[in-house]
Amino acid sequence: MASARSRARLIDRLRGLGIENDTVLAAMEKVPRHQFVDEAMTSRAYDDTALPIGYGQTISQPYIVAQMTQLLIADGLPDNVLEIGTGSGYQGAVLAEILPSIYTVERIEPLYERARRRFAELGYRNVRARLARDGVLGLPDYGPFEAILVTAGAEKLPTSLYEQLADGGRMIVPVGPTGDQRLIVVRRDGGYFEQEVLDAVSFVPLIEQRSDEPSH
Ligand code: SAH
Repeated sequence: MASARSRARLIDRLRGLGIENDTVLAAMEKVPRHQFVDEAMTSRAYDDTALPIGYGQTISQPYIVAQMTQLLIADGLPDNVLEIGTGSGYQGAVLAEILPSIYTVERIEPLYERARRRFAELGYRNVRARLARDGVLGLPDYGPFEAILVTAGAEKLPTSLYEQLADGGRMIVPVGPTGDQRLIVVRRDGGYFEQEVLDAVSFVPLIEQRSDEPSH
């Protein structure tokens, strides 16, 4: 009950910060964020801040999750979505409250395992978690995706994912060096990829595996 109250307060804050999409706000009012952080962090789970989840990674700030989710569904609800950077699984769960099918990939095995367990325990059967050394390679066997959400900061626009974006689809990705990232929306129209540069953001880096690196 206490967590429901804290969640309602967080939703009020998000609304105050300009998040207007009721579908997004309703989804975030449902997802128990305190179950996506370590026990030592549960008292801060409904603060509007990123929190450490171990392995040098973070669960994103709720405002950013709301903003990215809002952008993802701005032109209608995509049927199948790919998230790169499962992390805690929180963003994936928010998407799962709204959309029919989500694939999410993570490169750090213990985070992947933990997120998978959370999805199962909380009954999010429409999220499929995958372990991948480099999520930027996408999931060619399960695409094309109507939307791709990258939740780690890419140095450069990950154009390798373009071919897994369905025609009319959109990719949302933070791009730029640490300290100077901007959220970019890429919309696909046939062979044309239109880019829109949005707000400044701050994400942990997307780790890209170079093809000349050994995989073990
Ligand atoms: N969406 C998450 C937050 C992501 S933090 C949440 O809601 O909690 C970014 C995550 O991206 C980290 O867990 C990091 O390990 C992962 N990551 C970074 N580079 C990656 C890559 N190339 N492929 C897959 N996952 C990656």
